[in-house]
This record gives sequence, structure tokens and C-alpha cells, in this order.
Amino acid sequence: MANNEHTITIDGTEIHFKAGQTIMDAALSAKIYIPHLCHYPGLTPSGNCRLCVVELNGKHVTACTTQAQFGQQIRNQTPELHAARMAITQMLFVEGNHICPSCEKSGNCKLQAMGYYLGMRDEHYPQFNPRREMDASHPAVLLDRSRCILCDLCVRASREVDGKNVFAIAGRGIHAHLIVNSASGKLGDSDIAVDDVAANICPVGAILIKEKGYVTPIGRRIYDQRMISEVAFDEHVPEHEEHGND
Ligand code: SF4
Repeated sequence: MANNEHTITIDGTEIHFKAGQTIMDAALSAKIYIPHLCHYPGLTPSGNCRLCVVELNGKHVTACTTQAQFGQQIRNQTPELHAARMAITQMLFVEGNHICPSCEKSGNCKLQAMGYYLGMRDEHYPQFNPRREMDASHPAVLLDRSRCILCDLCVRASREVDGKNVFAIAGRGIHAHLIVNSASGKLGDSDIAVDDVAANICPVGAILIKEKGYVTPIGRRIYDQRMISEVAFDEHVPEHEEHGND
């Protein structure tokens, strides 16, 4: 297939990459899905969700932060990586209050879609039932920290696309939590706007647009119709384009 030096191999398939692309970039361009939740094309990768870990020449690396280099032999779909991705996803479910049937994000939620993609049948681990602060102070945007998976997407989108720096992640480990950069710490005192990318990029139901519930009925939402592994190829951060919660 390829006859220049910009090629890598993923699960036995040789693909091209452009100079500067990561393994994730190259895979998505070639329509090869590497599971991910914290990555979004167009934003600086952070590598924090660990779902995109692949095997590169025998070592484990995050595909979203590792540069593609000629000759790399990458394994993506292996039983071991599948088991690790399942465990991560199950942990994310129990660390938050992800009650799909009553969540407005159901059908549009990447965590839920990842569960379906991986064939997850139960949460496996005991539920943490966290109680984290809900912020309903903004007239148009709701923040429910109990559903936040700390993917950092809203943080990066606000800074890199919206040019506002509304969000940040404070603390480490089990104390890590999403904060709002306003004098009161409340969303209502921040300069977030309803059509900001940061207000619409949350992969779960932690940031929701108010008064838009069920605009798209259950059954006709994104992942009701397509697998997360297909939708991923179409994603790119739009500039102030409305997307996401309905
Ligand atoms: S609020 Fe949503 S986008 Fe922001 S860090 Fe939490 S899960 Fe990610």
C-alpha cells in the first residue's frame, strides 16, 4: 500500500501518517478507531483517560500523545487492551453518578457509548455514590460535578477555542475536581456562553444546556444510531458551532 517512509502498522494494517501526526491522528485519518474519551481532534491531547493506550513495539503508550514514526508496529485491538479499557470504563461509571436512564445526556453520552462499544454488562466495582457540588447558578448552563469524569475537555476547549479559561481541574488523585475560574467559583459569575465549545463538548452529562432537554428524543440521539467507533471519525472541534447536548 504505502511506499514512502510515513507509514505505521496498526493491528497488521499499514497506514500513512503526515509529519507531526500522533498515532491517534493517523489512526482516525485512516478510519481506524482507537477508543478514547478525553481526546477530541482540534484540542491539545492530554492523555488522561488512558483508554487510548496501545502497545507500541511491546510498550504501552497513549496513542493521543505519541508521535507517529516510521515503522512503528502498533497493537490496538488485543484481549489485554480490551480488558484494561473495560476496567477503566467500569471505574469511571462507579466513580460518578452515571444513572443512564434518568440522565438527559443518555444516547449522546460517550461514556455510555463506550460501555456499549466494549460490551460492558455491569459496573463490576462497588458504586462510590459521590456527592459533589452541583452548580445551577448560570441561566443557561448547568454543571453537575457528580457526573464529571475529569476528562479536561471543557478546560481545554474554553482555553484553546473559546479564549476564556472558564474551567480548571484542581487537586490530585481522588481529590481532583472541576473548578470554575470566577470570583465566586460559580458558573453564573463566569463569562461562559451557551454556544461556547466548552459548554457543549462534555462527553457525559456533567455540563448540560438548560431548557433543551429532549429536543432530540431518546432513540434518535447520536449513539442510538451509530457506534462511538464510527462517530469518532467525523469529530473535530468546531469554532462556536452549536453541538452536543440534544
Ligand atoms: S465537566 Fe465534562 S468536559 Fe469538563 S472535565 Fe468534567 S466530564 Fe470533562
